[in-house]
Order: sequence, then C-alpha cells, then structure tokens
Amino acid sequence: MSAQLFVASRNAKKIAEMERILAALVPGVQVLGLDDVDFFEEPVEDAPTFEGNALIKARAGFAATGLPSVADDSGLCVDALNGMPGVLSARWGGRPKSDERNNQLLLDQLGDVPDERRQAHFSCVIAFAYDGGELVVEGRMDGRVIRDLRGTGGFGYDGLFVAEETPDGRTSAELSVAEKDAISHRGRALREIGPKIAAVLAG
Ligand code: IMP
Repeated sequence: MSAQLFVASRNAKKIAEMERILAALVPGVQVLGLDDVDFFEEPVEDAPTFEGNALIKARAGFAATGLPSVADDSGLCVDALNGMPGVLSARWGGRPKSDERNNQLLLDQLGDVPDERRQAHFSCVIAFAYDGGELVVEGRMDGRVIRDLRGTGGFGYDGLFVAEETPDGRTSAELSVAEKDAISHRGRALREIGPKIAAVLAG
C-alpha cells in the first residue's frame, strides 16, 4: 500500500518524529508536510486545550489539501506552575518562538522550587481528520524538570526533562531516538492512533 498522509506542522523535528514512528505503524505511508503541498493560510491555534488546537490544525489541513490529515498539539505541563506552559509551550518565552528562551524562562520561573516539587508531564494530542470522520487520541510522559540543560538530541524542553521511565537520570535530549519514541507522549499517542490511520488509508 502507498498512501499519502498530510502532517500539519512546520516543526521539522516534530514531523521527523511523527514520520519515524508512523512508518512502522502505517505500511507504505508517504508523509507530506506543509512544504510539500500548495500554500494555504495556516489557522490560528487559539483553543485553550491541546485537543482543540490539534483539531483546528487537522481540520484545516484536510480542508486545504483534501488528504487525510494528522496534527499534533503538545506541550509541557509543570505542576508548580499550575500546568503551564501547557498549550503556550511553543511560545512561552515570547515571539519569535525560541527553544533557548523558553528553556531559560522555565528555569527562572522554577528557580526557587525545590527538587521534590519539580514534577511535570508532556502531553500530546493527535487529531486525524479524513473523509468520513475524525479521531483524537492523547499520550503522556511523566517526569520532572531539572536545573541545567543536558543533551543535544530532541527539541523544545527535552534538555530539561527527565522522564520517570529513565531512572538513570538522562534527559529526553540524552536518549536515543528509539528510547525517546518508546516512552514519549508522542510515541504513545501515535502507537494508539497508527493502526486506525492504517485502516482508513487502506480504505
Ligand atoms: P506546538 O507545535 O504548538 O504543539 O508546540 C509544542 C511545543 O511544546 C514545542 O515547541 C515544545 O516547546 C514543546 N514540546 C512538545 N513536545 C515536545 C517534546 O517531545 N520534547 C520537548 N518539547 C516538546
């Protein structure tokens, strides 16, 4: 089977993660990003929830391209910040988006927070819009925010996050891609929705 799937995102590293995980779940899938389709005006992501924003992006992608479309909305929710930055994770440090500024702001905000109160989790909602319906799933990775950036892999807040499933204390940015995919919020959500996407693409 060879079927096209549109991934509504400009984040090249996020698309690469999704493509990598989906390749194993959806045989023969050809993933197209925004640069592979005719230009269309991207929607404003102004919903207050990950689910709302993922649906906004997937629906806009499907409406513009006519292709089955997936979109992920994800972020880091920090307990000591009442769940923030949450849906604001990408632009927490202001515009234009910058991982470096986001990480620095998070470190500053958690400066006085002791180690035992630095719990956080990543959330990822994947929405799939296709001719005939919509699907939504959520994945989660629990862990804590450390005090110094470590590692060069991944993206976003990975260098500040140690997952519960990583007892040796490595950050998500120090994991191999296979290790991150196995425990990540995005990996979990994609493994749940992948077989359903495969069934839709197979007709
Ligand atoms: P979105 O593109 O609006 O969904 O933004 C998601 C933001 O959340 C990213 O820009 C990152 O700052 C953060 N984020 C989401 N997933 C991850 C991850 O797997 N690792 C690190 N940061 C992430």
